[in-house]
Amino acid sequence: MAKKEEPKLDLMGNWAYAPAPEDSKHIHLNKKYDLFIGGKFVKPTKGKYFDTISPSTEQKLAEVAEADEKDVDLAVKAARNAYDKTWKKMPAKERAKYIFRIARMIQERSRELAVIESMNGGKPIRESRDIDVPLAANHFFYYAGWADKLEYAFPGRNPQSLGVAGQIIPWNFPLLMAAWKIAPALATGNTVVLKPAETTPLTALKLAEIIQESGLPDGVVNIITGFGKTGAAIVNHPNVNKVAFTGSTDVGKLIQKSIAGTDKKITLELGGKAANIVFDDAPIDQAVEGIVNGIFFNQGHVCCAGSRLFVQEGIADELIRKLKDRMDTLIVGDPMDKNTDVGAINSKEQLDKINHYIKLGNNEGAEIFQSNCSMPKKGYFCKPTLFLHASQSHRIVQEEIFGPVLAVQTFRTIEEVIEKANNIPYGLSAGVWTDKGSKIFNMTGKLRAGVIWANTYNKFDPTSPFGGYKESGFGREGGLHGLMPYLKF
Ligand code: NAP
Ligand code: MG
Repeated sequence: MAKKEEPKLDLMGNWAYAPAPEDSKHIHLNKKYDLFIGGKFVKPTKGKYFDTISPSTEQKLAEVAEADEKDVDLAVKAARNAYDKTWKKMPAKERAKYIFRIARMIQERSRELAVIESMNGGKPIRESRDIDVPLAANHFFYYAGWADKLEYAFPGRNPQSLGVAGQIIPWNFPLLMAAWKIAPALATGNTVVLKPAETTPLTALKLAEIIQESGLPDGVVNIITGFGKTGAAIVNHPNVNKVAFTGSTDVGKLIQKSIAGTDKKITLELGGKAANIVFDDAPIDQAVEGIVNGIFFNQGHVCCAGSRLFVQEGIADELIRKLKDRMDTLIVGDPMDKNTDVGAINSKEQLDKINHYIKLGNNEGAEIFQSNCSMPKKGYFCKPTLFLHASQSHRIVQEEIFGPVLAVQTFRTIEEVIEKANNIPYGLSAGVWTDKGSKIFNMTGKLRAGVIWANTYNKFDPTSPFGGYKESGFGREGGLHGLMPYLKF
């Protein structure tokens, strides 16, 4: 008789889960990806390519074209041509059919897209499968519905498209950010030149394949890859009518400067440093889950991550104890494993930045706690980290870290926590945990944040507008509001 295998214990003495890796044999990646311009995949004029890797294995996945100014010009010309000759003239209900078709095709290829998203970006497959990809499809569905109803959305205002939209996106939600940008642009009758981030180009290129297969007229969507210089060339191209950017506040400021004095329309979705506020009447266990979801979800690579925790004094000890216990159970590791809670940090550069902040937090005098989890030997990983007794002047409290690092402060009164929560250059999002509806409404009126969750965190829906105050940018994406930046009246 075969010997029964003893179950394995993890570092905490709990039963360890057996690995449950998602299969990746069903996906296909080319060795080399060209630029998607005018409905075709074309070689970059200078013939340059760069490697894209998996941050969890550090292995090369494919080579991707590097677009220079000439390629950007070709893409903008293709978009302009498609705008003038086809897209602008097409009845809105016909435009809608293409957008619906893209949504359906994303659904049909959801498994493949989720696997590639996790391989290239490092996020757990559970997230790419259950959040990123379904939401990306939903954005296309939602905006497809608006395409022939713009007159109802803005009655009596005669909404008109702008022309060519230049769109630049970050690496934290590669496919979802592409959907947030492309879907409303198409629904409002604009054409697109989109650039994904240098570390996560693959799902945008898969989307290019989907768009090609969908039969969308050539040149309506162009997807070009490259570095920051490629992004700058899109922003500065004289024939681009609208710039939509999601990324860091520093680059957002550069972009705003460079388009000053032109008539380009612009939306900027920038960084954040959200306050997650827990009152002493909150359901503590639920709040602990919300805190974990708010900062460790997607390795803290979320612009609206709840990276500052404010706990009311009376429950601080209990909540912190429960939070530490919960952190010890988080599984950090292979993004392709369905058990994984915290995947890989997107790049070596980002991991270095996070580690720099962890050192800084220690030097600033906050008390560090890191979850007692096992760590993979290869790849870019970071332990979920807490800083207790952080103070308002600490850099770990003021600056966006964009990693699984939470700075904790306590408070006594509502006035105090509002003052502290708002005392920051950012204003993207916030969370409030309390049993009292009146307290929620009081807080939402006074917190300077574009999105406020109550007794939940990090929930997204295409029907709901999203965007920031202050240095978190301006303009809204999602919902009816998300149509406006792509229209003139
Ligand atoms: P990033 O460095 O600003 O890059 C964003 C995009 O801009 C990338 O495609 C990048 O290309 C490109 N880029 C770089 N320099 C440029 C320039 N001079 N002109 C035009 N484009 C340029 O940001 P990231 O590190 O990728 O993303 C993290 C940031 O995004 C965080 O600050 C986060 O808060 C923010 N974010 C905000 C939201 C929101 O909705 N508010 C959502 C998600 C993320 P390369 O990648 O090739 O350098
Ligand atoms: Mg860069």
